[in-house]
Amino acid sequence: MSYERESVRRMTGYTPGEQPRVDSVIKLNTNENPFPPSDAVMAALRDMPADALRRYPSPTSMDLRETAARIHGVEPENIVATNGGDELLRLAITTFVEPGAPIGVAEPSYSLYPVLAAVNGSEVVRVPLDDDWRPRPWFADEMNRQEVNLTFLVNPHAPSGTLLAAEEVAAIADRLDGVLLVDEAYVDFVDPDQGHDLLPLIREFDNLLFLRTFSKGYSLAGLRLGYGIGAANLIDPIAGKTRDSYSVDAVAERLGIAALQDRRYAQSTWSAVRTERARLARAVGELGLSAPRSETNFLLARVPETAALDAPALFQALKDRRIYVRHFDQDRLRDRLRISIGTREQNDRLIAALRELLGA
Ligand SMILES: *Cc1c(COP(=O)(O)O)cnc(C)c1O
Repeated sequence: MSYERESVRRMTGYTPGEQPRVDSVIKLNTNENPFPPSDAVMAALRDMPADALRRYPSPTSMDLRETAARIHGVEPENIVATNGGDELLRLAITTFVEPGAPIGVAEPSYSLYPVLAAVNGSEVVRVPLDDDWRPRPWFADEMNRQEVNLTFLVNPHAPSGTLLAAEEVAAIADRLDGVLLVDEAYVDFVDPDQGHDLLPLIREFDNLLFLRTFSKGYSLAGLRLGYGIGAANLIDPIAGKTRDSYSVDAVAERLGIAALQDRRYAQSTWSAVRTERARLARAVGELGLSAPRSETNFLLARVPETAALDAPALFQALKDRRIYVRHFDQDRLRDRLRISIGTREQNDRLIAALRELLGA
């Protein structure tokens, strides 16, 4: 007997990347930061006072919001803390989309969006990206035509790693009738030479909501902490109405603050990831696998038809060698592998395995 809601019974859940229970695996499949969290974060964890666990946490996470606001040059009122970035995605739907009303995405993108839409009983309006993984000129118009009130755009894009410039995002926000959630899960890895900073746009557009997470940039995927940044008209209803009363726990808030205060350390990991990203991109290119220029901590490598193995076979052969990458059985992604940037040693092992398997 199923007691599920009809829409829940019909839907399929999110398929996460595999989390092997053994440590001997080279894990390049879920875009975790390959470096450990900062020492300051680990010290804050060890020094966690018992009383902070006995009591309820701060209901508004104001200390964290103030710290994040200072870093981003916005006000604490522009920030809402959430239990991972994923909770912000769910809250954006709860707050801005009537049950059953449509939700917009650019295809392909983060595979959690359609799952969250299904939970809401919502149709997904999918507008395909162009061959360079960029939104089509009519992206916003199509969302408006279908009366979409919330559109997800991941930038830098996942799973391609490519970056849209501020003007392009602003142009979409400007045309959209509804809310544009720009998922910046990977923005920390953008080359600083790009001068990429979209946050000032929240002063100009009251329909622009940014997602940030500690999972990738701050090596804290296990902590489950993220936040939204936007104009107060977007943040207030989430922070004050739809969010669970204590969704960010006391440990997460303290460690998150410690991570932001020691941002220099995180920045050193971003820089190391960029160095390795360039090296890995060159190495896979020499093996005939092409990847678009990535501004994230992963590469989307295309396996050519002439290769000794196709993408699913290469995925499996790497897995047999205890190297995990990600393959998506999905349009435009079937002939590609998404490879998270590892440490130098991990990347060397990957490159050696690819050389062997592709006979190059
Ligand atoms: C990792 C990720 C998130 C947020 O992840 P959390 O671990 O829930 O913070 C959001 N969007 C994309 C595209 C991601 O890859």
